[in-house]
Amino acid sequence: MPMRIGRTIPPAAAPIFPIDIVSGVVGFFQRRKRVVKFEEELKAHYHVSHCYTLSSGKAALTVILKALKEMSPGRDEVLIPAFGCYSVPSAIVRAGLKVRLCDLTPTNFDFDYECLSAILLNHGSKILCIVSIHFFGIPADIDRLKKSISDNNIFIVEDAAQAMGGEQNGRKLGTLGDAGFFSLGRGKALSTVEGGIILTNSHDIAEYIDRVINSIPDYSFPEIISLVIYALALLIFLFPSLFWLPKSLPFLRLGETIYDPDFRMRKMSSFQAGLAKDWERKLLLFRDIRLGNMHSLLDRLKGLCLCFSWLKREPLPCLIRLPLGIEDLSKREHLLKMSELMGLGIIGSYPDSIDSIQELNFDSHDQNFNISKKLSRSIITLPIHPYVNRNDICSITDLLTQANNL
Ligand SMILES: *Cc1c(COP(=O)(O)O)cnc(C)c1O
Repeated sequence: MPMRIGRTIPPAAAPIFPIDIVSGVVGFFQRRKRVVKFEEELKAHYHVSHCYTLSSGKAALTVILKALKEMSPGRDEVLIPAFGCYSVPSAIVRAGLKVRLCDLTPTNFDFDYECLSAILLNHGSKILCIVSIHFFGIPADIDRLKKSISDNNIFIVEDAAQAMGGEQNGRKLGTLGDAGFFSLGRGKALSTVEGGIILTNSHDIAEYIDRVINSIPDYSFPEIISLVIYALALLIFLFPSLFWLPKSLPFLRLGETIYDPDFRMRKMSSFQAGLAKDWERKLLLFRDIRLGNMHSLLDRLKGLCLCFSWLKREPLPCLIRLPLGIEDLSKREHLLKMSELMGLGIIGSYPDSIDSIQELNFDSHDQNFNISKKLSRSIITLPIHPYVNRNDICSITDLLTQANNL
């Protein structure tokens, strides 16, 4: 693929402003007090009694899982969708647990409940918890999940990594399960370079989390310096006029989703908590911009049979990327190639279903995950973040229209 020099839209991005970096440095000197302040703000906003901040969403999930494992030592499996981010199985393995997969319903990215009941019937006694994921920010039905589990010993963990700021029937995503977490990574709704947040209202779970957290180290001083440098780089290079540069450097591995249980686990630094200053305002601002971009895209794409959109519900949920299904594989290939050449930030979702991760050694005869495989192969996502402008929206919709007419 030839290297592109010129306007290149990142597939997903939460802006970091110069003032944020100043707040980060101020936060750094306030030490632990700054982190506690951020956690108190989160507790008040989400009406939860316990909140913890860490170095990533993966780290947050690992801590939750380790705490649950201590609470129910007889259970060692975590049930997750077979479609999705490789961070989730990485965290499960890091916590010393086993991955159990369930296929999805293609129309809403939620569990296939027939498949789920069969798994619970056959393996229920081994299952420690079910991780429900709000893919792209589309709310999964946590109430339905609760109703379909008769076994009170199975916990529900809400993966709201992509859904910070989202709601379902007036209830805030991230607070609907026994424990929930957000990611503050580069491509999420809000970013502190990297970061993760745990929320729970359960005093029992919190008691166990307190113990697990105690064994997690702080960032070292050199690690914090590298976070500061990374924050400065994001400040500069997320602009589409400059993003082509980091994108052309393969060692940065931008946009790759990798399976790796040996990720870094740290408590959130006071620099990151400082970067998050004014997070409620930024979260709303970015959300409104993304919603506006999403409406513009959907308006201009009306009537395209190429695009099957899952977003028929009103009001539209708060997404971080707009997913569309492209059934025709050669059209999809063409679209992704053209987007790459034109720097439009349209990408696929996840490379393959979770059972294809070699290291996890799934027995392929056991179960098939046809829907998850099909979703992995047919989805494209359109960028809707704050760096996307009117011209970009026209270029994206023109490309989709042109591909449709092929
Ligand atoms: C990003 C993401 C995670 C992991 O968050 P990190 O901060 O990148 O570790 C977990 N689950 C989902 C669905 C995600 O999108």
